[in-house]
Amino acid sequence: MPPADDRPETAARVAASQVADVAGYLAAHRDRVLAELLDLLRIPSVSTDPAHAGDVARAADFVADALRRAGLEAEVHPTAGHPVVTAASREIPGAPTVLIYGHYDVQPAEPLEAWTTPPFDATIRDGRILARGASDDKGQFFAHVKAVEALQALDGGLPLNVRFVVEGEEEIGSPHLTPFLLQHRGALEADVALVSDGAMVAPETPTITYGLRGLTYVTVRVRTAGRDLHSGAYGGGVANPLNALAAMIATLKDADGRIAVAGFYDDVVEVDEAERARLAAVPFDRDAFMADASIAVTPGEAGYGLLERLWARPTLDVHGLGGGFVGRGSKTVIPAEGIAKLSCRLVANQDPQRVFRLLDEHLRRVAPEGVDVDVSLEGAGEPALTPLEHPAVAATAAALEAVWGRPVVYARTGGSIPVVVELQRVLGAVPVLLDMGLEDDRLHAPNEKFEVRHYLQGILASAVALRTLAAALGAR
Ligand SMILES: [Zn+2]
Repeated sequence: MPPADDRPETAARVAASQVADVAGYLAAHRDRVLAELLDLLRIPSVSTDPAHAGDVARAADFVADALRRAGLEAEVHPTAGHPVVTAASREIPGAPTVLIYGHYDVQPAEPLEAWTTPPFDATIRDGRILARGASDDKGQFFAHVKAVEALQALDGGLPLNVRFVVEGEEEIGSPHLTPFLLQHRGALEADVALVSDGAMVAPETPTITYGLRGLTYVTVRVRTAGRDLHSGAYGGGVANPLNALAAMIATLKDADGRIAVAGFYDDVVEVDEAERARLAAVPFDRDAFMADASIAVTPGEAGYGLLERLWARPTLDVHGLGGGFVGRGSKTVIPAEGIAKLSCRLVANQDPQRVFRLLDEHLRRVAPEGVDVDVSLEGAGEPALTPLEHPAVAATAAALEAVWGRPVVYARTGGSIPVVVELQRVLGAVPVLLDMGLEDDRLHAPNEKFEVRHYLQGILASAVALRTLAAALGAR
């Protein structure tokens, strides 16, 4: 974490009373705020399964009603897919605006026999809320709904403007979200986007995630002849696409693990000393990481620590190689064609389209004579990096520290959350990722859970953060 004296005045301390009244409200309403989440979890809003379309719609209505009960103006918007629920608080002219994003759809629960309790009959056992969607993401976004409700009850209003966008298609890639955001940009523009759809780096360790990697995914096809050829009759006189592909791929990285594509690192935001110190403070268990993957070594780019390579550096990995003969026995063929799938995880400020062009140029340049190369783009996603010097980060961190009584850890993640990039790009909001779950919440897997304590602490943290954000952003 950054040194305390780097942080704005507002973040230096949060009055105990700002936490205590919300905690008191939660203690008085604990059973009800839990019961309401369980009701939402009992709706099987599986977005990928057309048989559940009615349940998805029912969940959208449930969310809108909950937002209305929290004192907001809520609306269910149909899309070409599943509905988007939006809500807005009573407008305070000149006050900053916080947009809270979540998703009410869930992954399928199969295999059902692996669950110890029915996935859509939410229950609480040993301090854990057990249900599909408990942590991803119903429990996490609903904590924000309950936080707004608490502030309305305690203060008779909110200290800033709050908007909600809760979608029903996150688990199927949010196909209709960007057009929706563009269409409703005027109503949804915000200073800050609060997103809770992730995990704290360790139990009892309040976490703000500030970096997400992007992606460029390509298919490489090489062709050398009009048909497969006999290696006895043609071997020695023709190019072999698989040999060529292997040689081409071997040029993509140097002996130090650096990606050897010209211009690849041009736009990369380097890991500086402050960031190196921040990442060193993350309680990352290298042995557990290695045991989990059953690996004995962690090779990678020279000059960077493991966590830096996993979170803050770009990568290049081959996902598949195909062509020729891989069946039983032998076949002396020189295949006409070979194929490879590969991708780069990207970091700020790399442009996935530019990386695609660089890869395309590189692979054509290094292709041996007589080898036709075709590189096609399969997928592209931009990286995201929250500017840590933005006052919203310190304000959110102050709230988390007041609630947990522990310093915040600033983490990045090696994966991608395209929605976060869109909130930043389309709405101009600075994304702040306030993670409430835990790594072992078993997202997308049987026996998903969300700790009761994390739900309640999440509500508390959200309510206090809305107060500290109002103070930090309103004073600007
Ligand atoms: Zn999620």
